[in-house]
Amino acid sequence: MKDNKLVTTETSLAIKGLQLSFGAIQVLKDVNIEIGQGEFIVLLGGSGSGKSTILNCIAGLLDITDGQIFINGKNVTWKEPKDRGIGMVFQSYALYPQMSVRGNLAFGLKNARMPKDEIARRIKRAAEILQIEDYLDRKPAALSGGQRQRVAIGRALVRDVDVFLFDEPLSNLDAKLRAELRVEIKRLHDRLGNTMVYVTHDQIEAMTLADRIALLRHGVIQQFASPAEIYSKPVNIYVAGFIGSPS
Ligand code: ADP
Ligand code: MG
Repeated sequence: MKDNKLVTTETSLAIKGLQLSFGAIQVLKDVNIEIGQGEFIVLLGGSGSGKSTILNCIAGLLDITDGQIFINGKNVTWKEPKDRGIGMVFQSYALYPQMSVRGNLAFGLKNARMPKDEIARRIKRAAEILQIEDYLDRKPAALSGGQRQRVAIGRALVRDVDVFLFDEPLSNLDAKLRAELRVEIKRLHDRLGNTMVYVTHDQIEAMTLADRIALLRHGVIQQFASPAEIYSKPVNIYVAGFIGSPS
């Protein structure tokens, strides 16, 4: 059966021959990437390089032009976003403003008809991990940017997803908070051990967070390697310039 074709049990996420065009414009040309269980991968690149487009393809938010996407060995190319085992965290938080933090965290679980006590248990755990216990009854408007972003992460956490996708989650925050949350996301990864794919244009963020960095330019991965390797052995002058340049 096409949907259950196995790649390997150790691969968490595999993208094969991914192409995507918006009308006549080809944005992703032939993206291939294989990510191991529990890896923290950063998609790094300048504005318009195709980072969000790749993430949206993984999440199932865009119809791809060609290629396949596998999560935990299953071909999810044609699956609904909610059935892919992924949770996405956006720069803009995307919280429901009329609902409390608790309501935001519970929303997807209620829709999935999860029992109330299980919902409560998951919210309690996520709130403890993200240190948002004190804000559960507040509305998003009464939270700081950093607190809102924790709630957005919490929504993926309560769903118990296999893969976390982050699209520039810290870009709306000031420098101090950005540095703090960077450390927390790292800690979250250490604690949970999930596969994480994190999009940023900030090479400092990439160097501090990533197990491996995929550096993108014009929808093509230039190099996919550890921060140390990409820094000391850039494959071309573009990579050397991008990694070496201040943000
Ligand atoms: P990044 O996240 O790296 O800044 P994107 O993935 O958002 O880049 O965009 C990659 C390219 O695709 C850009 O040239 C952008 O203008 C184009 N693009 C993105 N979304 C759309 C869309 N919905 N329609 C047409 N072009 C788009
Ligand atoms: Mg983007």
